[in-house]
Amino acid sequence: QSKAAGRGTYKIYSREMRAGIDQRRRLSHALDAAVATNTIDIALQPQFALDGGAHVGFEVLARWKHNGTQISPADFIPIAEETGLITELGHQVLRKAMDHARQIKRKSAFTGTVAVNVASAQLRQPDFPLKLERMVAQYGLSPRDIEIELTENILLDDRGSQIDLCLQRLNAMGFPIALDDFGTGYASLAHLSRLPVSRLKIDRTFILNMCEDDNAATIVQATVGLAHSLGMRVVAEGIETEAQLSRLQACNCDFGQGYLLSRPLEPAAVSTFMQERKGTRGTP
Ligand code: C2E
Ligand code: MG
Ligand code: MG
Ligand code: MG
Repeated sequence: QSKAAGRGTYKIYSREMRAGIDQRRRLSHALDAAVATNTIDIALQPQFALDGGAHVGFEVLARWKHNGTQISPADFIPIAEETGLITELGHQVLRKAMDHARQIKRKSAFTGTVAVNVASAQLRQPDFPLKLERMVAQYGLSPRDIEIELTENILLDDRGSQIDLCLQRLNAMGFPIALDDFGTGYASLAHLSRLPVSRLKIDRTFILNMCEDDNAATIVQATVGLAHSLGMRVVAEGIETEAQLSRLQACNCDFGQGYLLSRPLEPAAVSTFMQERKGTRGTP
């Protein structure tokens, strides 16, 4: 009897698992093809100074349209990381980001940064800093123009401080570094203070809850204070409401991005955005 139940359980488990594995395998093959044909696109989300509303930069986000539907990077980036495709994908995103940074600079007086998300496998490539330095030169940019964003949890699996070393080299070359999704990982304060990070990005979940949940608001307030005392600036991500914006302004949070201020833009929409921003320096 128990054997039968066991077998039944096994069957259900197996079928669901196989469906999951098959779907992942199909996605993985399709992603492979997308990278092989260089068809991963980017979107650019504007970032603003919360005090005064000046446009200060963009965050570059990978976009993949597969069979007519957008697949979220939250789904395909982990697949790319597992299959090792992430280094090539990341390289293509960097090239597209720099190509756009160059175009934006050519058409406007833009002096802000273009931030690119990088994965741990990229930072582990021993020649990553050198490749990046060559790439910015090739695009007529300066390292100051390209911000490197890494998630807080990348620091956790840093075997042998490879990542630390890479960050030190990138910083020495002049690339600004931002720590993404701050507050969701477990980076120790001691570790944090040793890293050449110039900006902390407070995770969206804290911004989402800060108006209803006093704990979330306290964490935001404390993070801003901590960052400022370490000489870092703070970016709030995922600002969706006026209430969140004014709370963040009251906390002295430096920068922000979110649907309230602007959705991520297709590259073609960026020049229109820049045109409309021209001269307007009002609150976001
Ligand atoms: P992230 O770096 O924290 O990016 C912010 C995410 O929040 C983006 O989702 C953005 O579209 C979304 N977002 C921005 N404003 C709002 C808002 O007001 N409300 C809400 N609900 N969401 C908002 P997206 O584009 O789906 O990216 C998800 C994650 O995928 C990113 O999180 C990043 O960790 C990763 N990712 C995206 N592109 C790349 C890439 O080129 N390379 C690597 N390694 N990771 C990437
Ligand atoms: Mg990011
Ligand atoms: Mg983030
Ligand atoms: Mg996030």
